[in-house]
Amino acid sequence: MSDCIFCKIIAGEIPSEKIYEDDDMFAFRDITPQAPVHFLLVPRKHITSLMAAEKGDGPLLGKMLYKAGELAAAQGCSEKGARFVVNCGSDGNQTVDHLHIHILGGRMMMWPPG
Ligand code: AMP
Repeated sequence: MSDCIFCKIIAGEIPSEKIYEDDDMFAFRDITPQAPVHFLLVPRKHITSLMAAEKGDGPLLGKMLYKAGELAAAQGCSEKGARFVVNCGSDGNQTVDHLHIHILGGRMMMWPPG
């Protein structure tokens, strides 16, 4: 989608600190990290949000969730764990309308969220 910042990052039109890519997805460090490890995993396909995903996107979402865990471990979170977050819509405080999984680690996370 032409005016989507994450589509532009995937296309290399906006610089990012890439940590992974394959035919389906792309991962890069968050520009305002909230933890020592904080990166985003996004589908190459422009899906506006988790709740905008279609049934046919299920296999892609499954692959992304598995890859999120694998990447978190590769980023040093295997021993102490990590937080996996998908913000959705205005109540979910989603600010970029391209589905993304936040992967946060390297510190203790609070619960419940504020
Ligand atoms: P959300 O509030 O869940 O939509 O999260 C969007 C995230 O994208 C925020 O954590 C931002 O810091 C991050 N972000 C926005 N622009 C960029 C960018 N150019 N590079 C990396 N991360 C970004």
